Amino acid sequence: QLYNEVIELKGNIRVFCRCRPLNKAENANGSTSVVEFDSSQENELQIVSSDSSKKQFKFDYVFKPEDNQEAVFAQTKPVVTSVLDGYNVCIFAYGQTGTGKTFTMEGTPENRGVNYRTLEELFRVSKDRNGIMRYELFVSMLEVYNEKIRDLLVENSNQPPKKLEIKQAAEGGTQEVPGLTEAQVYGTEEVWELLKSGARVRSVGSTNANELSSRSHCLLRVTVKGENLINGQKTKSHLWLVDLAGSERVGKIEVDGERLKESQFINKSLSALGDVISALASKSGHIPYSRVRGIESGPARKQSDISELFKYKQMAEKLKQDEKETKKLQDNLQS
Ligand code: ADP
Ligand code: MG
Repeated sequence: QLYNEVIELKGNIRVFCRCRPLNKAENANGSTSVVEFDSSQENELQIVSSDSSKKQFKFDYVFKPEDNQEAVFAQTKPVVTSVLDGYNVCIFAYGQTGTGKTFTMEGTPENRGVNYRTLEELFRVSKDRNGIMRYELFVSMLEVYNEKIRDLLVENSNQPPKKLEIKQAAEGGTQEVPGLTEAQVYGTEEVWELLKSGARVRSVGSTNANELSSRSHCLLRVTVKGENLINGQKTKSHLWLVDLAGSERVGKIEVDGERLKESQFINKSLSALGDVISALASKSGHIPYSRVRGIESGPARKQSDISELFKYKQMAEKLKQDEKETKKLQDNLQS
């Protein structure tokens, strides 16, 4: 299993693109897709402009309209399960309102999304490691709107609503939200209900649920406490699954008071996030985490861990190569 995980490790940031199918209204008004795929390139797409000029974009992987939730999760799985090995992991869904962020992360009862599938997979893998590792899983859900945090699971607990803040943790540690409800989860049966109840709380307080959700970030945090039963080593790591506010406000100036404030907060948080990701992608020495107000923490993986993993990856590739060579020699000998 380590062998496979290592082979699949393609770096510590991955960008996937998902194109949703045209919806009923778009089909009814005769809309056509402006996206074209090259069947031989699973990581490329082209956007066709009205003057038929094409622009090419590359990702780690491109999901086509016909790719279902299972196909999307198949690519996500190796990333999320590394939280069980003590790594901090984060997944963002970024895009304009209506592009399928909530469908991808949350999903519907018939088409469950990344959030539910992730927990299902974590339970499956932890069962597999029974006797070697002991795990405890906790779920928290929060909404960030105008830089204010709302605990989406508070109604599940008996605690009164609290003013929540993100606190800076010790160097290299993960950020914490003191007072945030942490619900321990024991199996898949209760998880869907819990996620649904969080989503319901999110939509309360707005006349139009979709409207509010497009203006706030929704974060699902899975905390994993692990204990290695062989050497006694204990780990605690976080997996963040994030449905971001609609990106359409970036660059757009709203005029009225409340909307202006909202756009400013959304623009600020999304552009700070963009800066962090660019810095991480360019392996720049300084990662501007602190521009995201109140959030500061060390990188999820220390540089030494990353080079260690790359060493494993190279070793694994070498092993595979050697296997092929040996097979060839054996075949030659036989013939
Ligand atoms: P967002 O959260 O980005 O604003 P939604 O996830 O709410 O967008 O998607 C908008 C609509 O499109 C929803 O009705 C959703 O069910 C539908 N939808 C999005 N992606 C897909 C998909 N891949 N397949 C089928 N329906 C989709
Ligand atoms: Mg949404």
